[in-house]
Amino acid sequence: MTELPDPRVLLRGHGLRCTPGRLQIVALFSAPTRHLSIAEAWAELNQTGTAVHPTTVYRTLETLTAVGLTHAVYGPGPTRYCVRGEPHHHVVCQDCGLVEALAHERLTDAVGRIEELTGLRPDASGSLLVYGRCAKCGT
Ligand SMILES: [Zn+2]
Ligand SMILES: [Zn+2]
Repeated sequence: MTELPDPRVLLRGHGLRCTPGRLQIVALFSAPTRHLSIAEAWAELNQTGTAVHPTTVYRTLETLTAVGLTHAVYGPGPTRYCVRGEPHHHVVCQDCGLVEALAHERLTDAVGRIEELTGLRPDASGSLLVYGRCAKCGT
């Protein structure tokens, strides 16, 4: 996995000012496999002693998603977000809401087949969303 750039670099690269709240939120969502809901992000920030209002987390994620720094995954349950970073797609468990990332480079066959069948070329990041049941819920 390639390392994501420093949160400051990411924010500035998307034309955003580096406020303390934004820096913390980008850092929190930067791990490649982390897809957190607003409530989960807020709980984690609180645990680390950062007093931030849930509305701030929500507004920040709206801003970051609007400029393409993060993307949203709409599953059952709350919307989850992650920093785009390494191109990836998502699988979502429709029972427990678990979100997992799948590296785009491991799906080039599927992406090629979709384009062949439909003429539509899936975007390299976040365009495929597969619903199903995870190993825990699937029995
Ligand atoms: Zn993602
Ligand atoms: Zn599940």
